[in-house]
Amino acid sequence: MKLLASASLFLAFLSPVLSGEPKPNVILFLVDDMGLMDTSVPMLADQNGKPKRHPLNDWYRTPNMERLAKQGIRFSQFYAQSVCSPTRASIMTGQNSARHRVTQFISPEKRNAGPKGWRWEGLTSKDVTLPAQLRKEGYHTIFSGKAHFAPVGFEGEDPTNLGFDVNIAGCSFGQPGSYFGEDGYGNLNPKRKKRAVPGLEKYHKTDTFLSEAITLEAKAAINQSLKKQKPFFLYMSHYAVHSPFNSDLRFANNYKDSDKPKNAQAYATLIEGIDKSLGDLMDHVASKGVAENTLVLFVGDNGSDAPLGPVHGYSSSVPLRGKKGTCYEGGMRVPFIAGWAKPGKKNAYPIARGILHNEQIGTVMDIYATILETTGAKNPKEHVVDGVSLIKQLSGKENPDRPDHFMCHFPHSHRSSHFTALRKGDWKLIYRYKGKAKYELYDLQNDPYEKTNLAESKTDRLKEMTKAMIARLEKEDALYPADGEKALKPVLP
Ligand code: CA
Repeated sequence: MKLLASASLFLAFLSPVLSGEPKPNVILFLVDDMGLMDTSVPMLADQNGKPKRHPLNDWYRTPNMERLAKQGIRFSQFYAQSVCSPTRASIMTGQNSARHRVTQFISPEKRNAGPKGWRWEGLTSKDVTLPAQLRKEGYHTIFSGKAHFAPVGFEGEDPTNLGFDVNIAGCSFGQPGSYFGEDGYGNLNPKRKKRAVPGLEKYHKTDTFLSEAITLEAKAAINQSLKKQKPFFLYMSHYAVHSPFNSDLRFANNYKDSDKPKNAQAYATLIEGIDKSLGDLMDHVASKGVAENTLVLFVGDNGSDAPLGPVHGYSSSVPLRGKKGTCYEGGMRVPFIAGWAKPGKKNAYPIARGILHNEQIGTVMDIYATILETTGAKNPKEHVVDGVSLIKQLSGKENPDRPDHFMCHFPHSHRSSHFTALRKGDWKLIYRYKGKAKYELYDLQNDPYEKTNLAESKTDRLKEMTKAMIARLEKEDALYPADGEKALKPVLP
């Protein structure tokens, strides 16, 4: 008896060592309004599934994304919602927007138009959130940058009410008054004060660009986690590359000789600024000796809003059709790269290196499940999750259990209005609730840029896809666009 007791004591003492490395740190690196083509890393595949460069890949300069792509895996078909807040709520909850009902971008001062019941008040402390679940697992949870989780005066306006221990510069709005330290990020400029970024006073009246300031503060917060000997979750959420298109002067010379308009040049400097931030964070965890145990997930929150144009009415995401806020692929395909900050023996699981994953899709809803699995954090039983863990796909393999669909449900008015878009397998359906032309159907395998609407020629496929969309909407308990007091339900062709 005594022997057994001492043996178990001995084992208990040893178990942290036997279980190997400490829990992995996670850096979730989210860039606002960054579309799939806003990078020098080729994210699209050719007919054989191999990476293919397009002209925009030669315009942008993102050496640190190239570095992460080389030591990690990137996805050619990674889906986000068409605007900010729905994606941000999906990352936090693992649910699709039709289910969590933050279906439109949150307007900081008023209720944005939409069906009764859409969650214009955003997330609250009652919601199950990714950082709150990680904190239960002993993580130090750091938020840095653009929050945009709830309007002014509501609980979710402050990320520390949603499970974060630290909030750096996050608030109710999504667009900074200014990126310039000289302007105090809006605080010192009467014309830009409406969207003045909170905190960061020590950088006011300096030449520190906003993307740099929130990176420096994030690095300091990581130091605090390490000092506490806690694993960290850093949600590095850049205000860039959202308008205003202020030029990041550190990089302006790289674009000044081009024939592109000034604001397109400024946009390219914003991209290069976030890229530097990515490299700085990877270098920082390396300098602290924790790079092999730090997972980096790079992702955009909706399609590109680059001020370039026009081809097919849009050209931000060429060759993809559409841009931020639209129902086409350019509105909802975003860059996704996953890798360990340094590949090596201490990585908690294998991630393929230098691979473009083109076989299956991924979605912003999957981030929640992926980070929970990485960290060993739990999802409460009663909380429905629409996403799945990407870990199998990150190893370069297919996951036979992953759903083959993504649904963007937008019962509001915006660039594309009152629509549901369903990607399922190789097919894409766009359903419009108002107006006569209700259906668009594309064969993405053979028509990846959505040029030929097959709704009238492939009637069986159209019916099948519409049925699948209706079933999905019902399963997620979606709210439909309003027509006066009436809810407009989708109809079969
Ligand atoms: Ca956005």
